[in-house]
Amino acid sequence: MDNVYTRRIAHLQAGIRKQRLDSLLVTSPHDWYYLTGFTGEAGVLLVEARGVTLITDGRFTVQAKEESPGLKVELQRECLYRTCGELLKRRRRRRVGFDAGQLTVAQMGSLKKATTGAVRLLDAGGMVLSLRTVKDAAELAAMRKAAALADQVMQAAMRLLKPGVRELEIADEIEYRMRKRGASGSAFESIVAFGERAALPHARPTAKRLKKGQLVVLDLGAILDRYCSDITRTVFVGTAPAKVRLWYHAVLEAQAAAIDAVAAGRTCGDVDAAARGVLAAHRLDQYFVHSTGHGLGLEVHENPRVAKGQKTLLASGNVVTIEPGVYVPGVGGIRIEDDVAVHRSGNEVLTRASREFIEL
Ligand code: ZN
Ligand code: ZN
Repeated sequence: MDNVYTRRIAHLQAGIRKQRLDSLLVTSPHDWYYLTGFTGEAGVLLVEARGVTLITDGRFTVQAKEESPGLKVELQRECLYRTCGELLKRRRRRRVGFDAGQLTVAQMGSLKKATTGAVRLLDAGGMVLSLRTVKDAAELAAMRKAAALADQVMQAAMRLLKPGVRELEIADEIEYRMRKRGASGSAFESIVAFGERAALPHARPTAKRLKKGQLVVLDLGAILDRYCSDITRTVFVGTAPAKVRLWYHAVLEAQAAAIDAVAAGRTCGDVDAAARGVLAAHRLDQYFVHSTGHGLGLEVHENPRVAKGQKTLLASGNVVTIEPGVYVPGVGGIRIEDDVAVHRSGNEVLTRASREFIEL
């Protein structure tokens, strides 16, 4: 296996020993991709104090050998978790970690039945996720590219905002333009929200048509070389009322304060408080109804969470979104979101589309 994978696995094995486990069942495709480079969707990666075994079915064995040369592959018989349990029993494992948040009751049942009580199954969820919060240079390079692609698509989408266009049309164009630029797809269902619908932080695109005098929230992200980006911009169609300009500049100021607070050693709660403090000074904090941001990487929502009271310390290599917003029911919403990497000193904003207030 590639050096980068050997290093990640060694890191995980140190954690496994620390928790006095014999093995860890890795059951998320993102996690096993991170550890081995295997991109198949079905299987279990068994990481042990010494050695790693992938249990998968016949559809993926050739792919696993190609993507992860040197990885030991066991062919699953009828039931994946039964095969896995039998293997653990055969290898006389005693303490095996798994992610309780990922296994279904049925999968747990098969595992327990196959191990016939000889193996203790212990919840060790989040071990790989926590390694994934610290991105290495190659991951950061991939994320810069995913961010640049999102910038381009954002700019292209803005040019399509003309009175009469539908939210769904813009959402389709976003998806198409991402793929055309090499993305494997969008990181999440794009948000294209016109007017009052912009007051819903998670509005799904509808057949509604754009009218003059409306706010538009565009929230999109691409998956490029498996890494995600996530950006939001808000524009006004026509000449914005003074109130809307004030709100926009308050959100922009809140975002700048939060970005300034992103640094190794600061808590996520500090960053959230920086954004919330600015909005409170403008008496808009009651309209900021979600947290300031989230980690980003192979998945669009990862750790750390940038939320009120979060004690988690930011570390060099973390990538988080900073996305304060105000949502006024019946009027509309404003959100500005960028992706920020934490460096040993300072930070780097990966998404670069202009944040100036745009009136189309
Ligand atoms: Zn977003
Ligand atoms: Zn986001």
